[in-house]
Amino acid sequence: LANELSPSISKLEQELCEWFALELGFDKNSGGVAASGGTLNNLNALVSARYSKGLELNPNAAFIISKDAHVSFKKCARILGLKKENIIIIDTDECGRMDISNLNHQISRNLNKGKGIFAIIATLGTTMRGSIDPISEISKICKRNDIWLHVDGSIGGVFSIFDENIKDIENIKEADSITINPQKVLGITKTSSLLIVKNIKYLQMAFQTGLPYLDSDENNINRGELGVQGSRPAEIIKLWLGIKSLGNIGIEEVLKVSINKKLSLENKLDKNKFNIYSGPLHIISFVPKNLSLEESNEWTYKAQKILINNNFMLSRPFYQNRYFLRAVFGNYNTQESHIIKLSELLNEI
Ligand SMILES: *Cc1c(COP(=O)(O)O)cnc(C)c1O
Repeated sequence: LANELSPSISKLEQELCEWFALELGFDKNSGGVAASGGTLNNLNALVSARYSKGLELNPNAAFIISKDAHVSFKKCARILGLKKENIIIIDTDECGRMDISNLNHQISRNLNKGKGIFAIIATLGTTMRGSIDPISEISKICKRNDIWLHVDGSIGGVFSIFDENIKDIENIKEADSITINPQKVLGITKTSSLLIVKNIKYLQMAFQTGLPYLDSDENNINRGELGVQGSRPAEIIKLWLGIKSLGNIGIEEVLKVSINKKLSLENKLDKNKFNIYSGPLHIISFVPKNLSLEESNEWTYKAQKILINNNFMLSRPFYQNRYFLRAVFGNYNTQESHIIKLSELLNEI
């Protein structure tokens, strides 16, 4: 399952997690675990958070997300056996960030109702528009209320290591756990995700069962007992190789360029025509102004077809009661000439 059967892969996983943890600003108590995808690591984090607060059997156990958090948290709640009303959903501000006054209000309201809030999830890079929740304010609220702070950095986590110019991003080290999905922007083969935790003992406590059929030496954490997944697949090699081949400078370049391409498209889109939503990262969503739900459905459907015929793949998410087009600059090979063509098409449709 672990060291006995795949000693080198297990060591590689451990070292890569420790490297990421130190880069994120954690100390030597930290560590992490790899899993296939951000969904599983968000689950690993929530299981650990609930366990660490002694609420694993409590039917009032609840966690907090913003309206713009990833759908994986709703899946996690089902797996954790939480009722719908035990997912507390916070409003977002006009920038798509968790609204702090609504957060404070919802915390007292739900504590008064007898909820046991075990985690707040701050999203570092929302799926719709790449917004970053106010991590430092949320972390203060977590500390005051003894709540676990999980940062879903599936999209933005890598930026906190390699591009520290983005506001609030360095505060990621205030988190108890962070999901990082380098597959999302670094072009690393899917799936590759890490959960980095401030204190590795919480993963151990939540997942250790005492394997009867293996006797690891005492100082060795059995990596199959740090999360939901058991046997360690050789999957970690993809992440290691991807990071090795890009190198620090290569990664910085990929991230910087991805944001610059987003900015380039944002600059070229007709501001009189479009409502444009985009945070500080490489993701942008937009739709023509003043469309009804039905009109937004028709426009985005038609536009998406035209774009695909021109080799542009934009997604068509549903957000704030309308359909949008969404561009994610995750392909390093996208050129300025492509962005010019794309903006011309969009401004015309
Ligand atoms: C993609 C994504 C996830 C889920 O990652 P998978 O690897 O698809 O499981 C979680 N959170 C956010 C913000 C994401 O964008």
